Amino acid sequence: MIKDIDHILIARGAISDRVRSLGEEITKDLKDVGEHEIALVAVMTGSLIFVADLMRHLPMKIQIQLMTSSSYIGKSTKSNNDPMLGKLPDVKGMHVLLVDDILDSGRTLTKIRSELEALQPKSIQSCVLLRKKLDSAMNVPCEYAGFDIEDEFVVGYGLDYDGYYRNLPDIAVICP
Ligand code: 5GP
Ligand code: MG
Repeated sequence: MIKDIDHILIARGAISDRVRSLGEEITKDLKDVGEHEIALVAVMTGSLIFVADLMRHLPMKIQIQLMTSSSYIGKSTKSNNDPMLGKLPDVKGMHVLLVDDILDSGRTLTKIRSELEALQPKSIQSCVLLRKKLDSAMNVPCEYAGFDIEDEFVVGYGLDYDGYYRNLPDIAVICP
């Protein structure tokens, strides 16, 4: 057991039900898109578990590509101004489903979407597991959001604090 967990915000059962329904919704929306044309781009490392679960609810032929983004410097719970992006995936001519863990200030998704736009994909849609109830997050285009949560720092199910807690099966709030 991990002592620093204050409380569980979203339990594993609720996460798994919602991930399944997101997958079904996305599958329905993409049913007319041809084979070889869908690229799921997952933003590492936070979306690690989410994307692994979500992709198994997407039965069509899709390519999985990973890219990295980091917004935190050391032990901080405030994302920094300009997220650092790793190598961009090859999405020219593809319908892109961009998958990230959480939408907070919106800077990460905004920056990635604009950099991917420049690579001439056919379309881009975004999917996040969590979205904070902040104007900054709500005003960023995002077609699929799993849960809208209050503005508090969460860990687990892939999300970390200083590299820890990603392995927790539930989404939790750590002790202040
Ligand atoms: P944004 O650029 O929207 O401010 O933040 C996006 C990134 O910051 C997310 O992809 C995630 O990695 C990180 N982040 C934002 N809020 C949280 C949070 O509550 N917990 C954790 N662990 N990471 C967060
Ligand atoms: Mg992230």
